[in-house]
Amino acid sequence: MTYDYDVLIVGGGLVGGSLALALGNTALRIGIIESIAEEKRITSSAGERALALAWGSAQILEQIGVWQGAGTKAAPIRHIHVSDRGHFGKLRMSAEREGVPALGYVATARALEEEVAARLKQSPVSLICPASVAGLKAGGEAVHVCLRMGTASTNLTAKLLVAADGGNSTVRKLLEIGQTVRDYGQTAIVTEVATGKSSDYTAYERFTPVGPLAFLPVAKKRYSVVWTQKADDAADLLASSELAFAEKLQSAFGYWLGKIALASRRQAFPLKLIRAERMTDERVVLIGNAMHQLHPVAGQGLNLGLRDVAMLAEMLSARLEFGEDIGGRDFLERYALARQADLDRVIRFTDSTVRLFSTDFAPLAVARNAGLLALDRFLPGKRLLSQYAMGLGDRIPRFG
Ligand SMILES: Cc1cc2nc3c(=O)[nH]c(=O)nc-3n(C[C@H](O)[C@H](O)[C@H](O)COP(=O)(O)OP(=O)(O)OC[C@H]3O[C@@H](n4cnc5c(N)ncnc54)[C@H](O)[C@@H]3O)c2cc1C
Repeated sequence: MTYDYDVLIVGGGLVGGSLALALGNTALRIGIIESIAEEKRITSSAGERALALAWGSAQILEQIGVWQGAGTKAAPIRHIHVSDRGHFGKLRMSAEREGVPALGYVATARALEEEVAARLKQSPVSLICPASVAGLKAGGEAVHVCLRMGTASTNLTAKLLVAADGGNSTVRKLLEIGQTVRDYGQTAIVTEVATGKSSDYTAYERFTPVGPLAFLPVAKKRYSVVWTQKADDAADLLASSELAFAEKLQSAFGYWLGKIALASRRQAFPLKLIRAERMTDERVVLIGNAMHQLHPVAGQGLNLGLRDVAMLAEMLSARLEFGEDIGGRDFLERYALARQADLDRVIRFTDSTVRLFSTDFAPLAVARNAGLLALDRFLPGKRLLSQYAMGLGDRIPRFG
């Protein structure tokens, strides 16, 4: 049969766009279906959020030609400092001790999105935008997609459909794939602050009784803040004056960076863990937030999504070389198996961190402090955690 595309990717966010670039040099005909027009996407306020990228993610972004530009705008993370407000436990990690230039990097979502969009324009990938998926049917040999483009609609066929359409995935709903949802009842407030002291590019993760607080370096005297709060408290904080907000933030964080002042608007992101019950369906595979939407506490969501991209691209390239069906059930099952352990581990780590550190219940507070202190003194354990923070827990696949 003839196909309009070999691979159709639904969702042109960071994960879908990265996959298209990773496959851009193969003989595959790739189409991306994206529902929001580019001008609207690049001005969306969500693009201002800073993302902590593991060293392994920077390697993947370099392979697809994105890090060469985006990396010049990113700040390095040279140290990581984890502490528990009101308690003594602390954990410190350092790039120097690990023998690497940086444990990771901080880049805004916008800087990455712009670079992905620029690279896509130079690639043979077709961007079908604005268009959204209205219907799906996977037959034996092809997946049939019904697209809505304004008032018009059209049908396309492909050998494989990749759902990269985010936490509210339409593809997942159309296929009636169940999901496990944990609503943390928390909201992340994201903003930027100017600091009194110059940074040595330390990223701080501070656990408070109401939720974790992350300070990520973006420049010498500028930090991006992700402050997780109970939903009601977050609403009050968002409604408070800039000065009152900055004072409360200072009191929660302390004076590690001197006096802090608000340097950008505050934005709110409600927090949930969403995990699809399966990674694949007939000729369909779910990646990125469409498969797993995580709490940002450990900064793992995009990092995990980029590892989905790298693994899928590597396996598709190999499949293509052998001339085998890229949408075959055996192939998709092998991909799901290859990603399972990383997914389970990151979800378990993120979820237990949120629950362990979002409480002031005395026995747990003592245990986590003892844990932080012990880990700080226990070199092999700390090295493992550093490797994990750098995204080196798994082999980084090579593709193309
Ligand atoms: C406050 C906050 C802080 C974070 N910090 C970090 C961090 O430090 N490190 C980290 O690794 N991760 C972090 N994350 C997570 C990270 O932002 C996400 O994991 C990542 O952006 C997910 O990318 P995605 O492409 O899978 O999904 P999305 O970014 O949601 O993209 C989905 C795309 O699909 C499109 N789409 C949706 N529906 C349709 C449809 N029906 N048809 C066509 N197109 C459609 C959308 O328009 C969008 O462009 C953070 C998240 C938040 C909220």
